[in-house]
Amino acid sequence: MQFMNQSSDKIASHLILVKQSIADAAQACTRSSDAIRLIAVSKGHSINAIAQAMAAGQKDFGESTTQESLPKISQFGNPSIDWHFVGHLQANKAKFIPGNFSWVHSLDSLALARKLSRQLEEKSASVNMLIEVNITRDEKKHGVVPEKLFDFIDQLMKADLPSLPLRGLMTIGPYHAPEKEIRRCFAELRHLRDDCQRRFGLKNFTELSMGMSGDYIEAIKEGATMLRVGTAIFGERDYSK
Ligand SMILES: *Cc1c(COP(=O)(O)O)cnc(C)c1O
Repeated sequence: MQFMNQSSDKIASHLILVKQSIADAAQACTRSSDAIRLIAVSKGHSINAIAQAMAAGQKDFGESTTQESLPKISQFGNPSIDWHFVGHLQANKAKFIPGNFSWVHSLDSLALARKLSRQLEEKSASVNMLIEVNITRDEKKHGVVPEKLFDFIDQLMKADLPSLPLRGLMTIGPYHAPEKEIRRCFAELRHLRDDCQRRFGLKNFTELSMGMSGDYIEAIKEGATMLRVGTAIFGERDYSK
């Protein structure tokens, strides 16, 4: 059988290990691991690797460019799989989202929101939206800085874009930071989500997409509902293939 090779064993066993450490971390802070969605970030990995993860029961996958993801998504016509767009989305790529992705984690401009909304309405589709927050205020990162978040949501609500349900916040934690600093950033995102819920009366604004291979345990402790894990599941990314 094609997939019963050594690397498929590896992906399946990495998935088991990651899920076990999620369950352990959730239990340690008395959270239910059912409330934590593991997104396997498959950018830089082959269709074969994705098929192996699916065979091991994985249902949520993340990709960060339309270029790389569309040929992959079209290989798998499985309606029970959810694709998450986790990278920076250029407005001119918005047309590729409907029909391919059910979540976008990186909304950070009104222009993009309007473009997406037009594309979605044309296709009578809707996509769950997370607003990307640049919690570390790093100039090299995308996302809305915390100081501008309320203003941004205010603009989105005034624009009235029903095909873009606002579901929560996403962030990328600080790289190579001590655990305390990582947790402080994730806690800040949680507080922002709670503030947004209250301030704008957004009932379904419940998601916190935070935590990657290096910091998903800290993210769980601070309330993450979605973890975006690539390397710990698939190994190092390889763009040469
Ligand atoms: C690549 C990527 C990930 C996964 O990173 P790993 O360190 O491999 O787990 C998560 N989130 C975003 C936005 C990414 O681009």
